[in-house]
Amino acid sequence: MSDTIDTCICSSCGKPLKSIDEARAICASCELENLLCNSCEYTRCMVCGGRMFLGNEYKLIKLEQAIWNFTSVFGLFRIDQDPIEPLSKGTSVFLDTGKTCLAITAGHMIVELSRLGEKYGEDAVSIGLVAKGEVILTVDSRQVIDWISKDGYDLATIAVPRMYIIDYLGCEVLSPMSWPPSDACQDDLVFTIGYAAGIQEWEPGRAKIRSSSMLGRVVSVSENNFVITPENGHSKVTFFTDGLRIPEHAGGMSGSPVFRLPTNGSIEEAELIGFTREAPREGWDVLLANHANLVYPDGLIRKEPR
Ligand SMILES: [Zn+2]
Ligand SMILES: [Zn+2]
Repeated sequence: MSDTIDTCICSSCGKPLKSIDEARAICASCELENLLCNSCEYTRCMVCGGRMFLGNEYKLIKLEQAIWNFTSVFGLFRIDQDPIEPLSKGTSVFLDTGKTCLAITAGHMIVELSRLGEKYGEDAVSIGLVAKGEVILTVDSRQVIDWISKDGYDLATIAVPRMYIIDYLGCEVLSPMSWPPSDACQDDLVFTIGYAAGIQEWEPGRAKIRSSSMLGRVVSVSENNFVITPENGHSKVTFFTDGLRIPEHAGGMSGSPVFRLPTNGSIEEAELIGFTREAPREGWDVLLANHANLVYPDGLIRKEPR
């Protein structure tokens, strides 16, 4: 195969290709395959205009596309003025535990909700779920089932009927075979997607959002938490911002679902094992997450060591 590659050229710029790694690119929309060099990564597909991705990246974007359907921006909005205004943002994921249907995010979003409520008035601020850039579902704070934001526990569970998630937001509900899952383990290969830049452009009812994702490795595990760093060499922090600004910081990822990738690389077997709670430093070099199994099937949250 390497002999063939030596004689192959990039279908975009015409440069000879060095290795198989920079050869096979696939359109994430129509699945057209083409030969592309590293510097022509992200070239547009000549058939449908979609983005082209090299081999490993393609796997990740298919995973991202799959997970994306289960998530929304978890926004806090000022609703006492017209137009309503986004104030703060995180990420939420829709989960059916088998017992209840939940939107899950980081607990500090609820702290922020009450801080903003004190500042502007309780009725002036509302939770709004923004999915796919177009639909906003406002959520009454009485729908919050449980939350915590201290001692490394940082989670909130909100009751959202499945019907609203599917029919109104146009999203899907993640329904694992069993719940709760096992702890994250040292060296797990993980993938998370969230909304780092939150709502990037805003007109009432027509927000522009783009997800950001990270392929990472679990580098340490404690009773309630684990630490993720970007997987180097093999991959990098990838942004699928598609023409919008690239987020410089992971703020907004709070609450994003963390999936364990099986060693066979099968994306169907990716398992929800955590929720991002914090990016403690500037940039994207570390994310902290809570184990997903802190959320009980009824939506209550475990708040102390087992
Ligand atoms: Zn090229
Ligand atoms: Zn295409």
